[in-house]
Amino acid sequence: SAKAGTRRDVPRVLSIAGSDPSGGAGIQADLKSIAAHGGYGMAAITALTVQNTQGVRAVHVPPATFLAQQLDAISDDITIDAVKIGMLGDAEVIAAVRSWLEKVRPGVVVLDPVMAATSGDRLLKESAEAALRGLLPLADLITPNLAELAMLLDEPQAHAWPDALEQGRRLAAATGATVLVKGGHLDGGACPDALVNTAGVLSQEVVVLPGDRIPTRNSHGTGCSLSSAMATVQARLGDWEASLRTVKPWLAGALQASDQLEVGAGNGPIHH
Ligand code: PLP
Repeated sequence: SAKAGTRRDVPRVLSIAGSDPSGGAGIQADLKSIAAHGGYGMAAITALTVQNTQGVRAVHVPPATFLAQQLDAISDDITIDAVKIGMLGDAEVIAAVRSWLEKVRPGVVVLDPVMAATSGDRLLKESAEAALRGLLPLADLITPNLAELAMLLDEPQAHAWPDALEQGRRLAAATGATVLVKGGHLDGGACPDALVNTAGVLSQEVVVLPGDRIPTRNSHGTGCSLSSAMATVQARLGDWEASLRTVKPWLAGALQASDQLEVGAGNGPIHH
């Protein structure tokens, strides 16, 4: 077998995220997305949600010590090529994930700073926002939507693309990470995405991929699927720009295909 750190044909990708029993978001979306990109998926569950396509009815966060045991059991036995971090729930969970990351130092860490569902329900306690900001420097790639980007900077949400890119630049400079600025929540028909890094990781500080909005109501789990796909493809390619050029058209296809699914009466899932 190949040595640890060698780029893998079948990357071993761990999702540390919440469960969506209706299958559209969270670890369920992550595992489908990892598989769709040819990775071997694993999942350590931070929180159980009670939800369907219409909204979140309840959230249960098991003890952080039990999550820490799951993480240790995986890393004691399996080389992890990439980690995707999603819903974390509370500050104790964030502390457990942080100590594990500092110990294991996985080669690729993608952090999706999940704060709330589209329905508006909170997925991170307000008291844990500072702890989440403290976790950012341990990520290689941060994938906030526009609301999360603004919250992490403690600034008002950007509505124009140039303002979003400026915020992405500020977050990249503050964390040393690469920031994926996502245009999915912009007004209008354009849906660009951009990678921003101020530490010379990319070919330029800002790399923009243009795109068109896919008109569908079924976008549940888009962010989860995107961040997992980026973790998987990056473990294979080792190049964020090439990874985004692979993942963005795939995501557009998954959004396009979402109307073929007949799952729920609310904000339905994308079709992986
Ligand atoms: N549920 C869980 C467990 C999640 O991790 C996420 C997303 O990040 C969501 C729900 C939110 O999905 P959406 O905003 O698409 O409803």
